[in-house]
Amino acid sequence: MKNDDHGPICAATRFSVACDPLFFTTLRTVAGIYIHIPFCKRKCNYCDFYSCTSLELAEPFLSALEREMELRREELPVGPIATLYIGGGTPSLLTPVQADRLIGAVGRHWDCSALRETTMEVNPDDVRGDYLEQIARLGVDRLSIGLQSLVDGDLQLLGRRHDTAKALAAVAAARRAGFDNLSVDLIYGIPGMSLARWGDNLRRVVDLDAPHISAYHLSVEEGTPLASMVRRGELTEVDEDQSGEQFDLLCRTLGEAGYEHYEISSFARPGFRAVHNSAYWSGEPYLGLGPSAHSYDGRRRSWNVASTEGYIEGGDIRQGEELGERERYNEYVMTALRRIEGVDMATLRRLFGPRQASYFERCATEQVQKGRLLRGGDNYRIDEPNMLVSNEIIASLFSI
Ligand code: SF4
Repeated sequence: MKNDDHGPICAATRFSVACDPLFFTTLRTVAGIYIHIPFCKRKCNYCDFYSCTSLELAEPFLSALEREMELRREELPVGPIATLYIGGGTPSLLTPVQADRLIGAVGRHWDCSALRETTMEVNPDDVRGDYLEQIARLGVDRLSIGLQSLVDGDLQLLGRRHDTAKALAAVAAARRAGFDNLSVDLIYGIPGMSLARWGDNLRRVVDLDAPHISAYHLSVEEGTPLASMVRRGELTEVDEDQSGEQFDLLCRTLGEAGYEHYEISSFARPGFRAVHNSAYWSGEPYLGLGPSAHSYDGRRRSWNVASTEGYIEGGDIRQGEELGERERYNEYVMTALRRIEGVDMATLRRLFGPRQASYFERCATEQVQKGRLLRGGDNYRIDEPNMLVSNEIIASLFSI
């Protein structure tokens, strides 16, 4: 999972933010910490997230991370943290000793006595021996396994390190290590993927019985090997109709299998929603540590330099921006409409006042009349069939 981030908060900014009643309203809750592990053994063909292959930098990176924790320990609201998410990159390239060092450092800098969820992303290719048992002993209680597909041809096209056999073995190993709380990632919209193959893939994933599934539409990003293949005519991107059919099949198959579609890309069995990610979508504050990690404190976003060497070197590694009222409103609308609960008018009124609430209702009513938004009581939400084209609907509700 990838975050956003940002730069140092000066004393004056901290003071003015802390004196604003709205700030306290939005930060009534405890916060989450995201840590970006910037290493990958090699780049996947579709990936444009920041990572590097300089694994020899793992130890200096951990030292730099401890330095950042020390510098930023007071940026979160006072009180215990709710969630810890170790993402990347590939966190499972850390040895158990290195993971222990990292989690121990978090415990020295923040109160972890009320942690509700500690997630670590795992690449199936890294699951060997008793690696997951050792990770479980460190307090990790949720794994996010980068399955992506259970079709070898898809995995090869995506440039993943693992094949289907390793993906299945990783899920079995997670269960043996005692992880009940498992999420698996899936990618659809892969060039050449027929609806029948996607359906077959989905049935095999359902058979794994993971309590949480994240399914993302492949996006062909400039500068990736996949984009070059498309440019050279070796691959054809799926069209809108194919994307829609694959999304419908995804929703139908997982719905019939008892998963709740609680966010555009997220499906969970009862009681297994992702706590950390749900906090992002509710606009709660989070601290992002490590190269390219993003942070949000309710008023300000900041992001770290996307360079492991630069991060280790230190100095001025962060940039940030203050969010004005309009940006915060747009952000609230966007994140709320990703979720099944949608926009709650009472919350919107409390956060942004009656004038902004009337503006939203005017725009939302138009979308309801067009059949693109649903109204239920004091809530507005996007119904499942429209979720794939939600960007357009959300943009129509923005304040400009
Ligand atoms: S393992 Fe994840 S972060 Fe690394 S290159 Fe592949 S998709 Fe990107």
